[in-house]
Amino acid sequence: MYVERFENISKEDVGSAGGKGANLGELTQAGIPVPPGFVVTAETYNKFMTETGIYGNIMDILSGININNTKELQDSAEKIKRIIIETPIPEDISTFIIEGYNALCHKVGVEDVLVAIRSSATAEDLPEASFAGQQDTFLNIQGSESVVEYVRKCWASLFEARAIFYREENNFEHSKVYIAVVVQEMVEAEKAGVMFTVNPSTGEDVALIEGSWGLGEAVVSGSVTPDTYYVDKKTNEVLDFSIADKKVMFEKLASGETKQVDVPDELRKRRVLPESELIELTEMGKRIQKHYNAPQDTEWAFHDNTLYMLQSRPITTLDETAGENGESDSVNLEDIEVIVKGLGASPGMAAGSVKIIHKIDELDKIQEGDVMVTKMTTPDMVPAMKRSSGIITDEGGITCHAAIISRELGIPCVVGTGNATEVLKENSKVTLDGKKGLVFEGELKIAEEKQTEQNNVQATAPIITVTEVKANVSMPEAAKKAFATGADGVGLLRTEHMMLTSGVHPIKFIEDGREDELIKILMENIIKVVDVFYPKPVWYRTLDAPTDEFVTLQGGEDEPHEHNPMLGWRGIRRELDQVEILKAEFKAIKKLREQGYTNIGIMIPLSQSPDELKRAKEIAEEVGLKPHKDIDFGIMVETPAAALTIEDFIEVGIDFASLGTNDLTQYTLAVDRNNELVAKNYTEEHPAVLKLIERTIRKCAEAGVTSSICGQAGSKPNIVEKLVEIGISSVSANTDAVADVRHAVARAEQKLLLEAARKMK
Ligand code: PEP
Ligand code: MG
Repeated sequence: MYVERFENISKEDVGSAGGKGANLGELTQAGIPVPPGFVVTAETYNKFMTETGIYGNIMDILSGININNTKELQDSAEKIKRIIIETPIPEDISTFIIEGYNALCHKVGVEDVLVAIRSSATAEDLPEASFAGQQDTFLNIQGSESVVEYVRKCWASLFEARAIFYREENNFEHSKVYIAVVVQEMVEAEKAGVMFTVNPSTGEDVALIEGSWGLGEAVVSGSVTPDTYYVDKKTNEVLDFSIADKKVMFEKLASGETKQVDVPDELRKRRVLPESELIELTEMGKRIQKHYNAPQDTEWAFHDNTLYMLQSRPITTLDETAGENGESDSVNLEDIEVIVKGLGASPGMAAGSVKIIHKIDELDKIQEGDVMVTKMTTPDMVPAMKRSSGIITDEGGITCHAAIISRELGIPCVVGTGNATEVLKENSKVTLDGKKGLVFEGELKIAEEKQTEQNNVQATAPIITVTEVKANVSMPEAAKKAFATGADGVGLLRTEHMMLTSGVHPIKFIEDGREDELIKILMENIIKVVDVFYPKPVWYRTLDAPTDEFVTLQGGEDEPHEHNPMLGWRGIRRELDQVEILKAEFKAIKKLREQGYTNIGIMIPLSQSPDELKRAKEIAEEVGLKPHKDIDFGIMVETPAAALTIEDFIEVGIDFASLGTNDLTQYTLAVDRNNELVAKNYTEEHPAVLKLIERTIRKCAEAGVTSSICGQAGSKPNIVEKLVEIGISSVSANTDAVADVRHAVARAEQKLLLEAARKMK
């Protein structure tokens, strides 16, 4: 069939209805109340492609394509999409779609019912990346003609340049990827949320329900902290609940658009779900779990007191070994002995067995959930860091490698303990507090609870602020997590991790005549971030390679030995000496831009003089990238020199200046940021550092240049409030801090408004 109602679709129909369509059909057939709808099947897409004769044309264009010639790729994608959009749809096909829509209108008894139109890929077992650009969802579509047009838009999205590039890169045949389109009645939810049919962190047989006001997007996207309810599935008794301050909601406006708006004051702290609705939901959860014979992660909505289920998928994160009864004996941390102290570098509690790593070849001993204890982490340790529940280091300050990566991975971490590798015993059980920088003896149950609390905090990213709140990304694989915070873009994409994980020194690629390989590695890494965030801006920071960090790489043997690498050959000064690396970075960015990733900006690290900026811009021009015209081009303000002469950089021309306070602080205070012996002397709140920050922001504001911050100080709410008052344009925080920073920004903005209003009286 070309158009199939949900009632006639089951989970076996993934090939024709796509993953989403098959899932909705399966639920409908099981008698679960799903908003009604139909699927324009993959066969219809095929029929359109073949009957119109465009299939051959499109495959011809694709077969001759050289995806590394990015201009050609972009042009071909545009050409194909134009063919799909401009080719008349044969009447029988559009009739099928129109009839499907009319039948839906008839069924719900509404003329021109509002629908959501979503693409539903037919090979969802393929990596998600291969469908980049095809996840289009169009809400509030009305009228049969519009429905036909939006279905066609979903078809065309199969040929975005990014999608073609991914399929080619991953050797998926274009001819084997199909697309189905789901057309479903919009439910104007008054309240909505998610329900796990068992507790996803403990496996307990308790329904965990989260709910908030308005459409479900607010909860699903993490834009709001929802109410949380735990219901015993045997007795339907509400075991526990917490009522959150729900600040934002999504609503359908009269224009048909969906918009994030503030929750009315009287609803913010009001309980969303009364007991009767919790029971109804729990009963529904039991039915769905029984149907699938597995715990489910579902989405629900209430409209006019009627419950609708919008989605159901298996819970994939269940830990089989999680406690059956889920009970935890709370422990007073004050009563427990602290065995090691350091700096809290990544918040959260973790507990596990100590595994001390002296050498890289010992990493295998780290099993899922162990606590890694080491002198200092290196990029080769990242896979083992991911398996660890917590990380403890002897060395380092709060901007060292272990700290930055742990924060990005969301793993609690204590750095700069001085002696953890000596004091802690192999295989002993410990609990660490990554906020306070403490390590306790024994595996304390409290860790689990605190961690959940921590995760809830991370999921919050409410409120619209004028000052943009962005995220820092050091590992491209963490981009999705950063995006999920609701960040307005990436204010710092670090390059070092990309290079360090390649195992080869970038200069070795160049010396061996393998520039192409270097460009490819850069593209593959950068794309992971710019694709997830598209069209939100991502500022790519060119390589800042301190010699001591690059020495272990293949080709790193020739790195010079420096007495103080932090003051040495790194940042733009090094790249201007090894200009081929900078060129390769610019070439990678140019290619990505040509593939449609116009959301990249370039940021130059460790700028000391405007001449460096001038030279970097010339090099960009040499590879065909036009700073300011093609691409935003800015500097990091990380040296007192740059802060004190920012106007000279502005004169040479910058689109933005971003405060790198990790370096700015160490250079202003003469405190090595990686040296735990002087960590107590390191503070971004020293008046000298604050003066340099203030000067930079004010001079930028006077000149109409965007100012930003991407150092660790930008993750500290109290500092951020001051920066907003001074007039900073954007703040880029660590993923785990985005929500708190957004609150701080909103508070500061509201304070300014209030003060202004009072003055006007
Ligand atoms: C900084 O110096 O503040 C910064 C963000 O850069 P990095 O931490 O990578 O040196
Ligand atoms: Mg820096």
